[in-house]
Amino acid sequence: MTIEDSLNFSREELIEQSLEKIRSIDPVIKSFITVVEKVEVNDGPYRGIPIAIKDNITTKGLKTTCASKILENYIPPYDATCVRRLRDYGFAIVGKTNMDEFAMGSSTERSAFFTTRNPWDLDCVPGGSSGGSAAAVASGQVIASLGSDTGGSVRQPASFCGVVGFKPTYGLVSRYGLIAFASSLDQVGPITKSVRDAALIMEIIAGKDPFDSTTVSRKIDFLSQIEEDIHGMKFAIPKEVYEYEQLDSEVAERFEEAIKTAEKLGATVERVNIPSMKYAVATYYVIAPAEASSNLARYDGVKYGLRVEETGLKGTYMKTRNIGFGEEVRRRIVLGTFTLSAAYYEAYFNKALKVRRILSNDINQILDSFDAILTPTSPIPAFKIGSVSDPLTYYLMDIFTVPANLVGIPAISIPFGFAHDMPVGLQIMGKRFDDPKVLRIARNFEKISPYNDNGRIRLPAVRI
Ligand code: GLN
Repeated sequence: MTIEDSLNFSREELIEQSLEKIRSIDPVIKSFITVVEKVEVNDGPYRGIPIAIKDNITTKGLKTTCASKILENYIPPYDATCVRRLRDYGFAIVGKTNMDEFAMGSSTERSAFFTTRNPWDLDCVPGGSSGGSAAAVASGQVIASLGSDTGGSVRQPASFCGVVGFKPTYGLVSRYGLIAFASSLDQVGPITKSVRDAALIMEIIAGKDPFDSTTVSRKIDFLSQIEEDIHGMKFAIPKEVYEYEQLDSEVAERFEEAIKTAEKLGATVERVNIPSMKYAVATYYVIAPAEASSNLARYDGVKYGLRVEETGLKGTYMKTRNIGFGEEVRRRIVLGTFTLSAAYYEAYFNKALKVRRILSNDINQILDSFDAILTPTSPIPAFKIGSVSDPLTYYLMDIFTVPANLVGIPAISIPFGFAHDMPVGLQIMGKRFDDPKVLRIARNFEKISPYNDNGRIRLPAVRI
C-alpha cells in the first residue's frame, strides 16, 4: 500500500497494522534498531501514516545510534528538520532503522548490532547503508521511510529490495539532524513503494532551513508534472557501464530492456563517453573518508556518547574510539587522516577535489544536451550475507551511484525486473534542480515497466 492508498484507511488501524507486522516479521527481517512503544500521532494531512527513519537521523527523545556502539545510548534532544516536517504533516514515526555503522557500507553487515535480511531472500543482504529502511518498506512493515545517501545509500538498498529510492539535488533537503558522514556529499532521501510517494515526501521535506546553510531557497514543485509524458526526451547511456568488468549479465539484460522501454516511451537514446566516470570510486573513497575523519573527531568520550575510562585524557580518547568504532569506521578514519595530512594532502585530497571538478564538468556537459543519464543502480543484485569480505570489492560496487553525490545532482532508483531472482534497479540521473523531471521520467517507466502490475511495483511475499 502506498501513501496515497493509505489515505483511504483509518489511521489508527494503519499504525496498529504496522506495529503488528513489525512484531510478527521483524524478529526475522531485523530492519529496526528501535521500535517506538507509544507512537505519537499529530494532526495533519497524513495523520497516522506509519513511517520509519534511518538511525542516523535525529529524533527527539528517541534513541539515535548510527548503528554504532559509540552512540548506542544517545537520545537526541531535538528532531532533525526532515523529521520535524514529517511530524508536522502528521506522519507517525514507528521506529528507527538499521544501517551500516555511520552509513559506511553497502550491506548493513557493518552495523555494530546485527545484519538486516533482504525480504526477497532472507539469506541475502538488503543493501546499504540504509538497508533497514529499504527492507522495512519492501516487507510492508511501514508505508515509507527515510534514508541518507552519501554515495548511494538510498538508491542501492532500494534497488536490492525492489523499491523506489530517491537522492535529491544537494541542498534541497536540510541536513540539520542528519549525523554527518561526509558533509559535501550527504543528502536525506525517501524510500517508497511508488515514484509518486517519493515526490510527495519531497514536497514535505525539501526547503530552505536556517539550520543548514547549504540549503537553497528555490521553490520546487515535485508532483504537478509527474504524470506528463516524456515524448521527445533524450537520454544518455554511458559506454562505461558496459566496460565495467563486474557488471552482472542479467543486470545488463534488464538494462537493455530499460533502454527499449525508454524508446517505447517516445524518448531517444544515445551512447556517450564519460571517461572520468572510471575515477569516480577512487575520488569518492578519498573525499568521503577525509570528511568523515574530520566529522567523527567529535566522538571523544567527553561531550557525548560512549566513554571508556583510561589513565590520562589521551588514554581515554584512544580507548573510547577503539572500542566505540567498528573496523570499517576505523579504517576510514585512518584513510581520511592520512590523505589530509600535510605530507599527502596535495597527492590525495587536493587531487581528488580536482578530479571531482572534472567529473562534474563532464556530467554537467552531458546533461546540457540530454534530459537524463541512465545506468543500472548497482552492477550486481543483492548477494548472500557474509559472501563478500574485502573492502575493495564493496567499494567498487558503488561505481554507478557515487557520481551523483560527487556532482550534487538528483538520482533515483526504480525497480526494473530481476537478476538471479533478486530485484534490479534502474538509475535515472538529471541536472541539478531537475528533480521533478527525474521523478517524471521514473514515473513514466514505472507505468509501463513489463515487471510491474498495472503500473505498481511488485513486493515480495515474505515467507518466514
Ligand atoms: N557504500 C558507500 C560507502 O560505503 C555509500 C554509503 C552511503 O551512501 N552512506 O561509503
